[in-house]
Amino acid sequence: MSHCDKPGLTPVAEAIEYLLKQVKPVSESVQCELGSACGRVLANDVTSPVNVPPADNSAMDGYALNPGKTGDNVPGIYRQRGIVLAGETFEGILGKGECVRIMTGATVPDGARLVVMQENTEVIDAGVRVEDPAALREGDNIRRAGEDIRVGDVVLSKGRRLTPADCGLLASIGVASVDVVRPLNVSLLTTGDELIAPGQPLPAGKIYESNSFVLRSVLERLGANVTVVTAVSDTLVAIQQALSEAASVADIIITSGGVSVGEADFTREAVESLGELSLWKLAMKPGKPLAFGRVGETLFLGLPGNPVSSLVTLHQIGMPLLRTLSGETVSPPVRIPAIAADRLRKRPGRTDYQRGIAELHAEGQWQVRSTGQQGSGILSSVSRANCFIVLEQERGHVLPGETVMVELFDQWLS
Ligand code: AMP
Ligand code: MG
Repeated sequence: MSHCDKPGLTPVAEAIEYLLKQVKPVSESVQCELGSACGRVLANDVTSPVNVPPADNSAMDGYALNPGKTGDNVPGIYRQRGIVLAGETFEGILGKGECVRIMTGATVPDGARLVVMQENTEVIDAGVRVEDPAALREGDNIRRAGEDIRVGDVVLSKGRRLTPADCGLLASIGVASVDVVRPLNVSLLTTGDELIAPGQPLPAGKIYESNSFVLRSVLERLGANVTVVTAVSDTLVAIQQALSEAASVADIIITSGGVSVGEADFTREAVESLGELSLWKLAMKPGKPLAFGRVGETLFLGLPGNPVSSLVTLHQIGMPLLRTLSGETVSPPVRIPAIAADRLRKRPGRTDYQRGIAELHAEGQWQVRSTGQQGSGILSSVSRANCFIVLEQERGHVLPGETVMVELFDQWLS
């Protein structure tokens, strides 16, 4: 059922659940060199073609020994057969009472049962004397072949957005390129006759257009190809035309402005005339007028025009949607409890995303201050913040000392 037919405001969690059900993730993939794969989404599971480490190797600079069979005493004097450096192998098998000098990372010779660190040895005329201050045992200081990854292990799963460590992991199993989901094509339209591009003189009654700079930056961090059209005029025809053009090239159209109930708010009507609107008005603050639907077959997300509202709704509602669309397996955001340092004004009925500055205190307790005025036009409140203070829908005013949940700005916002 369309959420537009329901009375009242849709709670945020319900809205996200509904939106995610409407998304068919992009499945087309492209090959990507490992060097530029960070931030891309894996299109397939990656299994390891090798063991990591590939062979037993030494975790220390010292001596690899063969003290005899398991249980035989380790301390004693060993005959040194040679030296093996990282990148080399020792030809031959160590017999009982024999050792080789070995460096960290070098392959442990056949026959060696453990590595003794250099500090517990002494070179004497008769050979290498090994002491035993720490009750040496078989396998000590040997990193076993495959102890990190075995041949055939799934190292990273489809839907993973690759991190720097993931790229290192792929390199460590010899993978030079991966299949990743192709980038999303996003059409970003900002609407409003009052909007002037920065750099131009500002006539009376106009304001500088800022939403496209915020929204585009977030979308590009997601790896999307973003086409931006700014200051679409506040007429039904102009918005219909911009939406139709966008629908022919985009996976999703994102608009800002014109979704409220003002005289010049035509975005919803334009969407309904070209497709359908299936969600409008969320129980969130800022961001109540958020709208969702389709223009033809293309997804449509209509963000409110107020600068803070457009940013908060893109982050809280748009990102789970876009990330899912881009093939990513998404987990819910991490929230942490913090003590409110200030009184926070809040009316029950909507989930608030107030802007805060969170700090970890010496005792391990998070504390959060408000950034001050919370109006939906006050973009500096986000610029100064490092977190959202997420106040539950039915909560009222918060007094200093009360516990609130905060969501530290993630990689999309900071
Ligand atoms: P709207 O949602 O179109 O009613 O716009 C709400 C408020 O946000 C108005 O004060 C607009 O002037 C402002 N606004 C809308 N779009 C933008 C934009 N792209 N950049 C800066 N402010 C905007
Ligand atoms: Mg407007």
